[in-house]
Amino acid sequence: MNLNDELLAIVGDSERVSINETILEQHSKGEAYHTPSCPDAVVFPKSKEEVSRIVQFASEHSIPLVPYGAGTSLEGHIIPVYGGISLNFSLMNQILSIQPDDFQVTVQPGVTRNQLNQALKKHGLFFPTDPGADASIGGMAATNASGTNSVRYGVMRDQVLGLEVVLADGSIIRTGGHSFKSSAGYNLTGLLIGSEGTLGIFTEITLKLRGIPEAVSAVKAVFPSIEAAGNAAAILLKAGLAIGKIELVDEKTIQAVNKFKSTDFREEPTLFLEFSGNEPEVTYSVEVMEEILKDEQCVSFEFENDSLRRAQLWEARHHAAFAIQAANPGKVLMFTDVCVPLSELAGALKQTRDVIEKYGLEGAVLGHVGDGNYHACLPIDPNSEEELEVVEAVHHQIVSYALSKGGTCTGEHGIGLGKKAFLQEEHGDLIPIMKSIKTNLDPKNILNPGKIF
Ligand SMILES: Cc1cc2nc3c(=O)[nH]c(=O)nc-3n(C[C@H](O)[C@H](O)[C@H](O)COP(=O)(O)OP(=O)(O)OC[C@H]3O[C@@H](n4cnc5c(N)ncnc54)[C@H](O)[C@@H]3O)c2cc1C
Repeated sequence: MNLNDELLAIVGDSERVSINETILEQHSKGEAYHTPSCPDAVVFPKSKEEVSRIVQFASEHSIPLVPYGAGTSLEGHIIPVYGGISLNFSLMNQILSIQPDDFQVTVQPGVTRNQLNQALKKHGLFFPTDPGADASIGGMAATNASGTNSVRYGVMRDQVLGLEVVLADGSIIRTGGHSFKSSAGYNLTGLLIGSEGTLGIFTEITLKLRGIPEAVSAVKAVFPSIEAAGNAAAILLKAGLAIGKIELVDEKTIQAVNKFKSTDFREEPTLFLEFSGNEPEVTYSVEVMEEILKDEQCVSFEFENDSLRRAQLWEARHHAAFAIQAANPGKVLMFTDVCVPLSELAGALKQTRDVIEKYGLEGAVLGHVGDGNYHACLPIDPNSEEELEVVEAVHHQIVSYALSKGGTCTGEHGIGLGKKAFLQEEHGDLIPIMKSIKTNLDPKNILNPGKIF
């Protein structure tokens, strides 16, 4: 069988099937340190019917299929470890319907979050989930992504109202619907969100939208230590203020960002905060914040009320990982991604910084601390086994500490290839149940095989 010819017969367009080496290589790796592996072919479908026919074909011949959104995931999710077909969704990028009165939108999976927000602006609405990269909605749903706004609006699982899904035999189902609440049977939408392309392939996604807040105020607050910043974050959250974002960056992150974005932020542990809502609640929240910060060792704070300066501040935060990558040329990055209960946050941040320093690594610590979620971003020489071993030891200590405090090995990036051992550590007893769901929905194990377990 010639895979290229078979796929060409399905999509009927030679521009949309590729076995070109450069294209295969582009689909062989994510944004992090995992060993690449090429697919045998890449297809760019344009409709659910095409996806369904490709899946039927793959099922008949037991060929692995790896859905590919924007390729920004960080745990090797899109690496075709057993070859097969990479299904690139960049041409399924239509916003199908915006229903402003119902606060919802239905999109194809290749729509990116920035594309969506551009289209929503004129309706006074926005889609809140904002990972640092301009990821696709399909990829974000499949990893249960979150970002700076999740402290206020929740994670991807809280935004998806319904899915259209191609199952492993090529059949098409719809889960959920258009209501904000439902108690109708098992929550299959919730199960499929975060399934990393291993249970089904999303071809349409209905999302909940939010109104753009009337008033916004952003603040940079500098602290003498990462621990003090973590404590302050937890206390601000307890005060019940109109917090929209609460992000922590350590001095290493700020140094990299200043160099990368030509900014002049003070190079010390800092909380980037945003308050949003109506004018009176934002004004009140900012006043209370000032009092709390004074009591919590804050060294200095600065407001960013101008919308352009505010956008620059958040762009700098979103580009932090790119800045750390640029500060370490020739290296690849490993991202830890733990999440702990808020009462454990300050201690966990300190443990992470201490472990990085103990092993003499150039790591930066940053995170969405309003959720208790943070990352150590650790550069590795891809040719050094020795360095990889040290970084893995550090990673393990950070995750083990988080688990010992009731946390999780991944707050938002997912399991992919990189966290399989940690899933075993966190939920070993549940893996048989997870595997039975996988076997039921994908008996031939063709959907993104080798991931999660
Ligand atoms: C600089 C940077 C910052 C980041 N910051 C964050 C952050 O703050 N928060 C966060 O959560 N993540 C973050 N990430 C990680 C990444 O952006 C997210 O994991 C994102 O959700 C991946 O989306 P994607 O479109 O790139 O998906 P891909 O990487 O292409 O795919 C991810 C997974 O989704 C599956 N998939 C893709 N499309 C479909 C589909 N249509 N149907 C079924 N499965 C599908 C793939 O098979 C794969 O398993 C960051 C990454 C970078 C590079």
